[in-house]
Amino acid sequence: MNSNQCPKLEKCPIFSNNTLHNEMLGKTYKNLYCLSGPDKYHTCKRYVFSEKYGKGAPENILPNSTLDIHEIAKRMGLTVVG
Ligand code: SF4
Repeated sequence: MNSNQCPKLEKCPIFSNNTLHNEMLGKTYKNLYCLSGPDKYHTCKRYVFSEKYGKGAPENILPNSTLDIHEIAKRMGLTVVG
């Protein structure tokens, strides 16, 4: 795998076709986050959530979501971890 690629992309719905219902938007996110090296994908809200909670964020959570990861967890009914 290219070291600039997010290690989560194979299972990430942002990387699946039509997840965003907008091909151009999907490409933009991929270029901004998924394929631009660790400095970028480490800032992706989906990536950070997954690292902290050990599961994928809901499909409607975008890489630049304004929601805090703990807020995402609460909305999923998960126990918030420190
Ligand atoms: S959206 Fe985030 S978690 Fe998913 S592949 Fe892109 S950088 Fe990784």
